[in-house]
Amino acid sequence: MVGIIGGGQLARMMHAASIGLGIDIKLLAEGPDVSAAQVVADVTVGDYTDPQTVRDFATGCDVVTFDHEHVPTGILIELEAAGVAVRPGPAALVHAQDKAVMRARLAELDIPCPANRPVGSVQELIGFGDEHGWPVIAKTTRGGYDGKGVFKIDSAAAAGEPFEGLPAGIGILAEEFVDFRRELSALVVRSPSGQAVAYPISETVQTDGVCTETTTPAPGLTRDQAVDCQQLALRIAHELEVTGLLAVELMQRQDGSVVVNELAMRPHNTGHWTIDGAHTSQFENHLRAVLDLPLGDPSGRAPWTVMANVLGGSVTDLTAALLHCFARDPKLRVQLYGKEVKPGRKVGHVTTFGDDRETVAKRARHAADYLMGVQR
Ligand code: ADP
Repeated sequence: MVGIIGGGQLARMMHAASIGLGIDIKLLAEGPDVSAAQVVADVTVGDYTDPQTVRDFATGCDVVTFDHEHVPTGILIELEAAGVAVRPGPAALVHAQDKAVMRARLAELDIPCPANRPVGSVQELIGFGDEHGWPVIAKTTRGGYDGKGVFKIDSAAAAGEPFEGLPAGIGILAEEFVDFRRELSALVVRSPSGQAVAYPISETVQTDGVCTETTTPAPGLTRDQAVDCQQLALRIAHELEVTGLLAVELMQRQDGSVVVNELAMRPHNTGHWTIDGAHTSQFENHLRAVLDLPLGDPSGRAPWTVMANVLGGSVTDLTAALLHCFARDPKLRVQLYGKEVKPGRKVGHVTTFGDDRETVAKRARHAADYLMGVQR
């Protein structure tokens, strides 16, 4: 019995993988109608920040894992102390929860990161900007996602913005603004016995802080560069003793070198291509890892795989829109998350694969645009 905390689309797609493996899933969901709660049979609706709710949920689970990173570390430490297998464990997960903790640990490991420093006041943020040059990036240390909590600060005059309405207990991390050529993603999966596999590196496109498209393998990355990115991610997984999926979001500088943007320890949007494009999906490998089963082959099935997110647009009946998409492209793969269409919300994704990158990308973009009601 795998208990998943969080009922979003990641849990929904983990559930799909669990069916073929004959693994039982139970879910702690935020509400009765959230994406995964619509499909999982055993659902508890409750608050994942309430210790008793999480404790009760964990009873009867062989292992507890996650759809998101927001369960308070203290609750997970207590669960682990009570003998529950929490995977990833809180000591690893804190590096995906708290960006200041993550930066400090990666510095100890000599892993390349943008210049950064926790700042306690507007004055300290200005000091960092004067030292490293403007603009700077300021990030809330906890609670951000999809670019929320990330501020580009152009000058000292704007340095107050990230501190406005900052909740107690959340800090600000100042970072050098990286004028990156592109963003990359390195996904690895590690099991408690220490087996690990690395997926091919993806190029990822973020629009307003939200991932919109991935191309795998990352075009133009040399074999050596790709292996370096994979080894960097494998090393982080090993040093932090991550169990399950680790996503290492990377920024590639103009000179070709990479720095780590952030870590996620759960299936990741940049790995959605693996459902249709890899021999073993990230969702299946995550489940295999948390259950300490041997991991599956992460390699791609085709020379190129492109995933495009479907963000809520003017099309409200996505299923009806499939008529056009499927009639036009019989090899198109689609995942819809069962979520109500709201502007900009991630409601599904499409995947295409094949031999010619341009054609594969065009097919994915056409389908995603159609499902979003975008005319180009
Ligand atoms: P979130 O936790 O909300 O996903 P991230 O830390 O991943 O936030 O940042 C969101 C986006 O902001 C990144 O994908 C990247 O495009 C941009 N970004 C983050 N840090 C930097 C930086 N130091 N320099 C330039 N851009 C950055």
